[in-house]
Amino acid sequence: MKEFYSNINLKLYYSLILMGIIIMTTGLFIGNPRMEEHDTGYILHIVLVVFLSVCLIRYPKYETQVSRIIIILVASAYFYLIFFLYPDTWSTFVFLCFIPAISILFFDPKLFYFSLILNGLSITATFSYIIFIDQGKIYPHITRDLVGNIANFAGSQVILYLIFYLSSARINKLKSYYEQIQHQERLKTTGQLAAAVAHEIRNPLTVVQGFLQLYREEISFSPDVKRNFSLMIDELKTAEHVISHFLTFAKPNKEKKLDTIDLKYALQSVTDLLYSYGLLNDNKINLNVQEDCFVVANTIEFKQLITNLVKNAIEASKIGDAVTVIAKKMRDYVEIKIIDYGSGMSEAEVKSLGTPFYSLKSKGTGLGLMICYQIVEKYNGTIQFQSIKDEGTTVTLKFPIH
Ligand code: ADP
Ligand code: MG
Repeated sequence: MKEFYSNINLKLYYSLILMGIIIMTTGLFIGNPRMEEHDTGYILHIVLVVFLSVCLIRYPKYETQVSRIIIILVASAYFYLIFFLYPDTWSTFVFLCFIPAISILFFDPKLFYFSLILNGLSITATFSYIIFIDQGKIYPHITRDLVGNIANFAGSQVILYLIFYLSSARINKLKSYYEQIQHQERLKTTGQLAAAVAHEIRNPLTVVQGFLQLYREEISFSPDVKRNFSLMIDELKTAEHVISHFLTFAKPNKEKKLDTIDLKYALQSVTDLLYSYGLLNDNKINLNVQEDCFVVANTIEFKQLITNLVKNAIEASKIGDAVTVIAKKMRDYVEIKIIDYGSGMSEAEVKSLGTPFYSLKSKGTGLGLMICYQIVEKYNGTIQFQSIKDEGTTVTLKFPIH
């Protein structure tokens, strides 16, 4: 509904609501046969008009499930009340048929079914009352062609269901498409940005390295100084290696050697590597890998993916908590789960994952998961985060079976 407001804009919403309120008020005060009597029914009519108007006006500010349910209940009560209060106005029956249409606007399947069932029960009670108690005295327009009226009601509910089903299927499809595009766009932009930065850093590094190599050959420097030069050159080489590695990532088209990776060995080697990292805060890594789990990918990239995820899990864990890595073979895919019982994330935080430079850590880069998403996508896998704040996180990776 949020998008509904921003796109169709609030002004239009309020204009339509105002029109509705004017129509309801007109019904109350102009040509109303009960106006003179001021009986309980009429007072209830006034109360419901006021209540419904207030709910609709306040709705954009309080877009909660509770206010949606209240709107549906109050609107149902209002339409049934005017049906019973004004039997001479035959057309009020039409409103009863279309009450579930209100919930279609909320695009929430649960609310729609709730409204549909509620309306079914209410109309059954209404018809029973008219048939057995009223016996067509006050509501002859219903009893005169009872079967026809029941059929019309049932037909209208089927039409509403069809409208809801088709529109919600379409909206869901559009939504997932939109999310996918947004995510890919984000990856592309950062990939390019990071590649540009990495490229610019590599050039000065090469120049400095060249000079240091020259100085190392100079006879005028003492061996001690020369040893420092060698150290500097080694460090620069490491930096250059990291950047080159990153640049090859940023170029998704570049062909990489594909390996058939045995998860038993690959996951073991990653957890061995991170063993001492986990020990810093007494976090053990439990590994549980089924036999014969294979994934086709570039080994270095695959290890980088798992390393990033396990490292995040360790960093999120409290002192002494274990991190569990599980790999299983399913029917047509291989599933890897990385489970921690650490800080967890809120729903909004999970949605931001993979966004470049999104990090809640003081020394984080926020690039780890971005690279993970790229690797997973490259090998036709999926990555999914299930997280509860303060309880922990489970990352589920799925790769097509080899
Ligand atoms: P970095 O680790 O450098 O911060 P990442 O891209 O690896 O960057 O992670 C981004 C953010 O996602 C982290 O800062 C952290 O807030 C959150 N995050 C990732 N994994 C977990 C996890 N297992 N539990 C809790 N938060 C996590
Ligand atoms: Mg990380």
